[in-house]
Parts: sequence; C-alpha cells; structure tokens
Amino acid sequence: METFLRYAPSPVQELRSELTERQGIRLYIKRDDLLQPTGDERFCGNKVRKLQYNLPAARSAGFERLLTFGGAFSNHIAAVAAAGRFYGFSTIGVIRGEAHAVLNPSLQQAQEDGMLLYYIDRESYRLKNTEAMLAPLRHQFGPFYLIPEGGTNELALRGAAGIISELKEQMEQLPDYICAACGTGGTLAGMIRGSLGQSHLLGIPALKGNFMQQEINRLLGPEAEAQNWSVHNEYHFGGYAKFPPELRRFVDAFREEYGIMPDPVYTAKLFYAVLDLINRGFFAAGTSILMLHSGGLQGWKGFQGL
Ligand SMILES: *Cc1c(COP(=O)(O)O)cnc(C)c1O
Repeated sequence: METFLRYAPSPVQELRSELTERQGIRLYIKRDDLLQPTGDERFCGNKVRKLQYNLPAARSAGFERLLTFGGAFSNHIAAVAAAGRFYGFSTIGVIRGEAHAVLNPSLQQAQEDGMLLYYIDRESYRLKNTEAMLAPLRHQFGPFYLIPEGGTNELALRGAAGIISELKEQMEQLPDYICAACGTGGTLAGMIRGSLGQSHLLGIPALKGNFMQQEINRLLGPEAEAQNWSVHNEYHFGGYAKFPPELRRFVDAFREEYGIMPDPVYTAKLFYAVLDLINRGFFAAGTSILMLHSGGLQGWKGFQGL
C-alpha cells in the first residue's frame, strides 16, 4: 500500500490569464486528478486521499472485504471498486435505487472490477449508517470494513489534511484561499483541520440544499468555530449531476484556455465559481487562491451522449 505515496505530492501549477492579470490575482491549481495510484482515473483525486488511511486500517484489522454506499454515478463507488481490485480486497457497493437492466458505464466498470452491487430503495438507503441496515448486510456477506457514503470518516479527513501538508512543502507560503468542491464535505473538513486557520478554506457545494455549512460543523465538531472557512451555495447549477449548457460551455472554454479538464459533477462547478468570483471582484487584488482539482474524471462516463 506504499504505492499511495509514490504519487504524492500532486503538482501545483499557476494559472495565468487575462482575468487573473486584470484582477491582480495569483491563481493556482493542485492537480490531485493526476494522483492515480492504480494507473487510471477510476481511482484518483480526493478519493485517493480519503482511502489512503482507510485501506491500511482495513487490512491491519484483518478485513478482506470492503462495503460502502453510493448513488449510481458515484465516483466513490468507482474508486472503491478499482482500489479494492488493485489492493486485493473484495468489495460490495450498496447502491441507492433500483437495479436497471442495463448498467450505466460507471457501475458496469465497478462490476468488472469485481464489485458486488447490491441495490436498495431510496427509503431504506436513508438508514445506511444504522445497525438496522448493517446487521443484515453482515449476516448476508460476512464481516466487512465499512466505508461510509462518499468515503467520509475520520481517517478520510486525515487523508485530506495531507493536501495541506503537501502544499506547505510545495509553496513558499500557503495561499490566502484554498477552494474545493463539496459533496459530503469530508475533503473540505479535512483541509480546514489541516490548515489551522492559515488559509481560508472556501467550499463550493455541487449539491443543492444549503446543508453543507451544517455538515462541516458536524464533521469538525467544536473545532469548526475556531477555524477559517466558509461555503458558497450559489454554484450548484440546479443540483447534483445537473449539467446545463452554460456549464458545458464553461468546461470547453476552461479546457481551451488552461489545458486542464474538469470533471462534470464537481470541479466544473468549482472552477466556474472561482473564476466568476474573481471576475466579480470578490477577492481583493493581491490575493492568492488555490483550487483543488479533486479528480472525478471517470464521472464523464455518466454523461456520454450529452
Ligand atoms: C467525491 C468528489 C468530491 C466530493 O468530495 P467530498 O469529500 O465528499 O466533499 C469532490 N470532487 C470530486 C471530483 C469528487 O469525486
């Protein structure tokens, strides 16, 4: 499992454009999308950070099986399947929703990676972290190491905090702002914890519903208040996996200008948000900003044909 470390640190690049010049901003991107310990994009980005300590913990506790939860297009499901195959765990993905006759390409790949897919209806899915749900699963499948939905737990936060340690070594000083896309909020919470107030952590939720503030508070507990962070709820583009034409145009323009491909579900919205905020003068001239490219490129599989 030492292979995790061979791929870190992920590179930091500066992005320059007419926009950053005009607004006097130094803009950086950390390329966690290039963090691909198993050699491809199914297991990359923040999913690597989140499993980095969980997989060794599972192994040293003697587990041979991982069980986790996710939606049908979840990058996390894809990552656990690919990582399980590579590191020699069997994997079970408990998927929200009905089984379809034809699997979507992301789930199909997970299945090819050896993941056993187990579907539950949306009502039952709400019980996902309760013993009422887990006990029958243990009965059916035998003992497993539980990885929560989206991979977010204490060890995942520790992995995400590692991003900050890397930045401290890579940059002369930490940027004023570090910006990340949020799903469960685990990645942002870990970085908040790691930065000890030295950078302002700005989260851009990819989901609708204004719950992220509360979620981060829950993940961090009392320490949340002492830290330096905020979330900006205006860039979800209609909700999870919504991808309106305006966002597609942005992805094309971003790729053209900077030569970097965002994913459709998370980082497209993050990069849009940060560039839009720069354009609106939200950041004072002289501010340094870093965006985390948290990976997710396998997510394009779900968008084929759009
Ligand atoms: C899963 C994922 C996220 C969300 O991370 P959380 O820790 O759940 O907030 C962000 N970006 C990408 C590319 C992802 O795949």
